[in-house]
Amino acid sequence: MINIVLFGPPGSGKGTQAQNLIEKFNLKQISTGDLFRYNMKNNTELGKLAKSYIDRGELVPDQVTTDMLIDEVKKPTDAAGFIFDGYPRTANQTEALEKIVKDVLKADISVCLSLIVEDEILVNRLLKRGETSGRTDDSNEEIIRNRIKEYYAKTAEVAELYKKNGKYVEVNGVGEIEDIAGKLYAEVEKIK
Ligand code: ADP
Repeated sequence: MINIVLFGPPGSGKGTQAQNLIEKFNLKQISTGDLFRYNMKNNTELGKLAKSYIDRGELVPDQVTTDMLIDEVKKPTDAAGFIFDGYPRTANQTEALEKIVKDVLKADISVCLSLIVEDEILVNRLLKRGETSGRTDDSNEEIIRNRIKEYYAKTAEVAELYKKNGKYVEVNGVGEIEDIAGKLYAEVEKIK
């Protein structure tokens, strides 16, 4: 199995690149952000809870997010592995994912691919996306800056954990989408 953690700050292009990697390597993407948005759209209890955090640019509590992820990992699939997009976002979630992948999939995380993009570019990309996405968390600069703040406060340390395991690879997330995809493919080929 190939199990990829796609990592990076909000707006670094995880969703776009996940799409490329899925097709190239026949993987199943699990995006916690997409799952929350699906629940918000359908006004489920989980969606209502998540919305109260997401609209402020804060992280949803670990337990809620992890339970949702476990349900998704347990669904049967023909894919050759998974791309985790937007999870893990805390040290606690990183540990939880190790365990989930071991217990449910009888496998390991293969690599953490980290997209590097500087903050001001992120803010511009997200404001631009907000013009068309309808995402409340992209709608104003204050919320966007809070998401980036949350990233440094809680999420950046996830990178340190994968570094310790020797599973951390950085890729420049600024440039042409196809060029960035090419670099990601090359990294995945190395671990296949
Ligand atoms: P982006 O890729 O722009 O960072 P996502 O679509 O991944 O945004 O996530 C949107 C929001 O959903 C996050 O700002 C956060 O509030 C919530 N969220 C997504 N994944 C997680 C997670 N693993 N833990 C906690 N909250 C999460």
